[in-house]
Formats: sequence, structure tokens, C-alpha cells
Amino acid sequence: DPLAAPLPPITKSTKLDNVLYDVRGPVAEEAARMEAAGTQILKLNIGNPAPFGFRTPDEVIYDMRTQLTDCEGYSDSKGLFSARKAIMQYAQIKGIPHVTIEDVYTGNGVSELINISLSALLDNGDEVLVPSPDYPLWTACVNLAGGTAVHYICDEQAEWNPDLDDIRSKITPRTKAIVVINPNNPTGALYSREVLEGIVEIARQHGLIVFSDEIYDRLVMDGLEHISTASLAPDLFCVTFSGLSKSHMVAGYRIGWMILSGPKWRAKDYILGLNMLCNMRMCSNVPAQSIVQTALGGHQSVNGYIAPGGRVYEQRDFVYEALNAIPGVTAVKPKAGFYIFPKLDVKRFNITDDEQFALDLLHDQKVLISHGGAFNWKQPDHFRVVFLPRVEVLEETMDNLAQFLATYRQ
Ligand code: PLP
Repeated sequence: DPLAAPLPPITKSTKLDNVLYDVRGPVAEEAARMEAAGTQILKLNIGNPAPFGFRTPDEVIYDMRTQLTDCEGYSDSKGLFSARKAIMQYAQIKGIPHVTIEDVYTGNGVSELINISLSALLDNGDEVLVPSPDYPLWTACVNLAGGTAVHYICDEQAEWNPDLDDIRSKITPRTKAIVVINPNNPTGALYSREVLEGIVEIARQHGLIVFSDEIYDRLVMDGLEHISTASLAPDLFCVTFSGLSKSHMVAGYRIGWMILSGPKWRAKDYILGLNMLCNMRMCSNVPAQSIVQTALGGHQSVNGYIAPGGRVYEQRDFVYEALNAIPGVTAVKPKAGFYIFPKLDVKRFNITDDEQFALDLLHDQKVLISHGGAFNWKQPDHFRVVFLPRVEVLEETMDNLAQFLATYRQ
């Protein structure tokens, strides 16, 4: 029997030893198995607006349709002129200084550019400061590139703002960069000018590169202002990330970008590395690049969703109130994006393993959330809720959660 031949098992690379991406991990896989077996699951786990009835603006779709026949070939590896020009102008509006078209790179989502920007930078053992909790791709890509993600604390008591003292205490001679996620996933925090200036000052003192992930910058609520970190750091080499997945509800099109700013001469060699990795993947999805100009310049349909009375705003308010009304649950009100990161009273519920908690909730109530550990949060006392579903659906899920917690392990 040839199948019985003693061939060695096929194993994954040890480069993946410290790489985790649990937002789509075992709990989500269990939910998929349950769904395949016919169980309906209430999914509050992925920040993907389209399946929840958020529609791409018509003008964007129209624009792509009319340009599709011109998008058959590869583009320049950094992207189409029209897209990069629009992104450059967007950078000017955000106050990011001295950005030329050469400093703008498009990617297959911000995701690809996070991977490229870290792969081009890190040697084994290099350290990058990453927030905890984080959007876990940052930690995963630092580790995949051979670096070490060193987590700095964002403080729930201070509305999830980064703890500057903790950042300072974690800098070593190997620290190369600091990652800022603002507005934040999973906490929904929006950082003030003072907080950002504090981070920039630390980066300045230690010569750190600033990686600022601002993909939710157009989803800010309550009349607050989003400030680009790079706009406060004209003297620092910064890489600013954003894209259309969330603001234009086109997560499936795969279009994001990164913008280099500050003293690029200092990063000449690094930029050669970035260019090489971008050349190696040819270019990002060209039809998706073709809509950037219209998307950034045209009607910002997302504004209606995040204003009072709009869906995201109303769903945020509902879920915030509903979570805080559950005994043993508290949550800070998100200011931007569509995530909330509530805290569980672990003593009351006797929780020591947050992934198990997520599985128990899934099995018992058919509600899928992501456990805090998936966001590199070290205590088992948090979980993330995506508040994209309509209020009626959120109402049902919050009722189920309350019912579940009323008796859970007590
Ligand atoms: N950065 C943050 C903070 C995110 O939350 C996400 C998606 O959830 C991404 C980046 C990746 O987005 P995309 O690859 O769709 O541009």
C-alpha cells in the first residue's frame, strides 16, 4: 500500500511558531462547523460591513464598472497614478507633511502592507512595540518577520488610552518601531492630541519608526476629530496606513494604502526594501485601485452611518447600554469604528480561559464573539463584540448573552 509508506509528516514552518490570528481561529472554526450542521449562529466576530446590509456607495460601484476594461493589466507596483494622487491629497488634508506621490503605496488591503512593512524592516530579535489589546495582525506579522512584538498596555481605566510610562519602560536597544492603532480595534478608543504627542515624543527620544494604523479614521463619532500621528511628527519617519475596507464597505475588494512621511533620507535603505517587496507582488488589485479617487473625493456615505440616527451610531449606543446593563459586565463607550471590548467580572463567573468562555457561549447561545486573548490581551477577562448587525439582531444577541451569564459558573 503506497499510502502506508513511511514518509515524514508535512509540517508547517517554525517561522509560524509565534504567529497567531485567532479572530478567525478555533472558536470561529467551531462556529463554521455548527453552521454546516444546520445551526444558525449570531456572528459578532468579524468587522466585515457588507454582510450586515451596509452597501457600497453606488458611485463607487459605477466607477469600477466603467473602468473595469482599463484595469486588465498590472499597474505600477505602488499603484495607479489616480489612486496615489488622491491618497496624497488625502494625506495633505490630514496634515501629513511632505508627502509626494512616490511616498504612497497601494496594497491588497492594509493587511498586505502591514506584512510588507514589517518584513522589509525586521531582523531576528528586533523589537516592535505593539499595543495590547491590538489588531492581532500586527503582532502576527512582527513575529512572522522574525521580530519580537513587545506589548504596551492600553489602560481601560483611562478610556483605553496607551500607558506612556509602560511604553517607556519597554524600550530596549533592540526597539525599532512603535505601532499605534488609532482609532483602535478592538477598543474603539480615539486618541487625543496630547496622547499622540506623548507617543511621538517617546519615538523622537528613541529614534523609533512610527507605524500608525488609521483604517477607522473616517468612522469617528460624537463630533470628535481624528488626528493623524504623522501630522504631529514631521521630524520622524512615519508610515500611515488606511484604506477603503471599512469606510466604503468594500472589505472584499482589497484596497488599502500606506504613506511614508518625515525624513525619508534616513530610511533610504528601508524604502529600497519596501519597493522590492512591492515589486515582488507585482501590484495590488487594479480594479480596486481604480475607485480610490472617487471614493475619497466623492460623497462620503459613511458619514450618514456614524451621525446620530445613523446605523453605526445607534448600534454603538444600543450595545454599549445593553452590555453595561448585564450584571458582571462593564464596557467603555467606543468613540470610533464598530467594535466594543467589554470586561467580564472573572471572579463572579470563575473564568480562567477566555477562549473556553467564547466556546461555551457559542455552544449554549449560538452567539459568536472573539475572546480577548485573540487580541493579545493577557488576562482572560475581555471579549470583543462587532456591532455591525442591526439593533433587532443585537437585541437578541445581548438578551442571549445576559441569559447565559445569569447562570454561567455561579
Ligand atoms: N488594521 C486594522 C486596525 C483592522 O481592524 C483591519 C481589519 O479589520 C485591518 C487593518 C485590515 O484591513 P484591510 O486589509 O481590509 O485593509
